[in-house]
Amino acid sequence: MTSAAEARVVVPFLDMAAAAAALRPQLDAAFARVLESGRWVLGPEVAAFERELADYCGTSHAIGVASGLDALQLTLRALGVGPGEEVLVPGYTAVATWMAVTLTGAEPVGVDVDPQTFTLDPALLEAARTPRTRAVVPVHLCGHPADLDAVEAWASEHEILVVEDACQAHGATLEGRRVGSFGAAAAFSFYPTKNLGAIGDGGAVTTNDDALADKLRLLRMYGWRERGDSEIKGDNSRLDELQAAFLRARLPLLDSDNARRRAIAERYLDELDGLPGLVLPGAHDGHAWHLFVVRHPQRAALRAALDDRGIGTLIHYEVPPHRTRAFAATSAALPVTERLAEEIVSLPLYPQLGDDAVAAVIGAVRDSCEAFCCSTSSSASS
Ligand SMILES: *Cc1c(COP(=O)(O)O)cnc(C)c1O
Repeated sequence: MTSAAEARVVVPFLDMAAAAAALRPQLDAAFARVLESGRWVLGPEVAAFERELADYCGTSHAIGVASGLDALQLTLRALGVGPGEEVLVPGYTAVATWMAVTLTGAEPVGVDVDPQTFTLDPALLEAARTPRTRAVVPVHLCGHPADLDAVEAWASEHEILVVEDACQAHGATLEGRRVGSFGAAAAFSFYPTKNLGAIGDGGAVTTNDDALADKLRLLRMYGWRERGDSEIKGDNSRLDELQAAFLRARLPLLDSDNARRRAIAERYLDELDGLPGLVLPGAHDGHAWHLFVVRHPQRAALRAALDDRGIGTLIHYEVPPHRTRAFAATSAALPVTERLAEEIVSLPLYPQLGDDAVAAVIGAVRDSCEAFCCSTSSSASS
């Protein structure tokens, strides 16, 4: 970059084209391999990717499906979750976590989160339990591993199933184990913006349960074991050969990509510490840093100031699932989630972000926070 350009560095929130350009020869080779194979759906690339993802996560199976939403809903269905039952989900999460439950016919029941880790607060699970509670879906939101120790201890005591939503946490670890290897099964999304992203949609379930894996393989294609003979009522949720081939090109880089994410996050944590009004996210040794979400009581003003300086930001998520119109019938009060929704803003964080861009973000956040140093209400610190 020239110094003239540096003076007005514009940092986009994401740069998908840069991510693809960084891996262009491998992606071209993957594309050519699939074109020449004459197989487009559930072929050798999918089988190889499933093996490689399972090995990476330390599970005996990975089952490729069409999306993260499907990975969740098919897993819950395969486990027998359905109408008349309840599934506990965090209030602060992507709406897909809640929608996956409704697609099974069961009801999502929101549980509030810890304001530091943004993950399910295990202390609140017992109050949410009813005789209909069948499963709990801890989400490793933003890449921060959920407190699975506490969730699993509580769940096993009450014979409640645990299904991880690992859609934002490819490569995150907990006590040396990769997420995706806990609970009955875990759901991954390969939506392009995720830590491991396809060039389109995709998803997978990881599990150590042979019977569950078998059932998921039936569910993803019309209940077929043998073509044309439906053993059970299934769905169409297949992973494309092309996406599997692209994902195979990207998986070997996941750890180094995550290391770069971590280096950026550590710089943010270090250099943005102590700014008026700004609350930084909680760190964790096994964090995959999918998103870097800060909080500020004057979020709109902070975003506008950053936008003026050419720094892209987004809000994950503006409306929590239980406050969307789709879930208007849900009466849940989730005060931490609701507070977070008003204060959160995500800063740019992706492996292709160079040191200059990181410095530009830091400089802009510092200037902005100091510019409207404020009546930081006590609300900013809890
Ligand atoms: C992205 C995401 C999903 C859904 O994945 P899709 O592939 O978009 O269906 C589910 N849960 C969480 C937490 C996500 O971030």
